Amino acid sequence: MTITIVGSPACALHNADPEHPEHPARMHSINDQIVSSGLELVVRFADAHPAHFDDLLLAHDKAFVQRVFDLAPSEKGDRVWIDDDTIMMEHTLKAALHSAGAGITAVDMVMANETQSAFCLVRPPGHHAGRSTSAGFCLFNNIAIAALHALEHRGLERVVILDFDVHHGDGTENIFQDDERVLFCSSFQHPFYPFNGDQPTRDGILNVPIPAGTKGSEYRELVNHWWQAIDDFKPQLIFVSAGFDAHAQDDLAHLRLVENDYVWLTEHIKAAADKHCNGHIISMLEGGYELKSLSRSAVAHVKALLG
Ligand SMILES: [Zn+2]
Repeated sequence: MTITIVGSPACALHNADPEHPEHPARMHSINDQIVSSGLELVVRFADAHPAHFDDLLLAHDKAFVQRVFDLAPSEKGDRVWIDDDTIMMEHTLKAALHSAGAGITAVDMVMANETQSAFCLVRPPGHHAGRSTSAGFCLFNNIAIAALHALEHRGLERVVILDFDVHHGDGTENIFQDDERVLFCSSFQHPFYPFNGDQPTRDGILNVPIPAGTKGSEYRELVNHWWQAIDDFKPQLIFVSAGFDAHAQDDLAHLRLVENDYVWLTEHIKAAADKHCNGHIISMLEGGYELKSLSRSAVAHVKALLG
């Protein structure tokens, strides 16, 4: 069993205002925990190749991608707000291209059997970016681009995307709303940002709205039907939008998960991957804003991926 952590120093260059919750310390704290937990000794590391313009077109409209490139500031100190939450500054485009490229790098490594699974330690996150929109800290939809790279360029026909971030992966649902090659499982606090997802767009979109205050034991019951659905779908590769902002210590939202709940989720994902796709899982960091619970949960997730 091998797992590779795919990332890039470029992902830490995007640095919004100091009070913005999506900041470089998120990556640094997970890296620190990987070292202090001893995980560093048993995982491999790989550099993410940056995504190319054409790679982004797998999931996004050309005019939208061009607009993001055109808006990208080149001068130190310049700021462009894409929406109320999403800012671009001097190095944001470079970070976003490496974040999207990490998923492509991971798919290529997994499909070449260079690693069994991968965790992409990247930012900015991606799951709120739709076909023609950036939103909610997300410029491009990293997980969708990776999944479409596997489907369009690596010959796969069925993949699962499982999103346990506390926010609905509305961008991912938007991109795959007419694409039955993808089974999308998303749990999220509801009603809560982005205030949608309670009316899934098709069969094969398994959205689970979760009330504020829900604890791990109740959460597990609410998503427990996913495992049979994934088994029936027989995926050839499983992608995970791994956000850790449903943790009880994360004040950005109001669910009550703890590290063991992420281990439970990961063990079920791994069992399905072992049964249907040679253990191949590609997990990508999405949210998680309280640094201690974020780093502990991410490391618990990677350890569970290792088995
Ligand atoms: Zn989130």
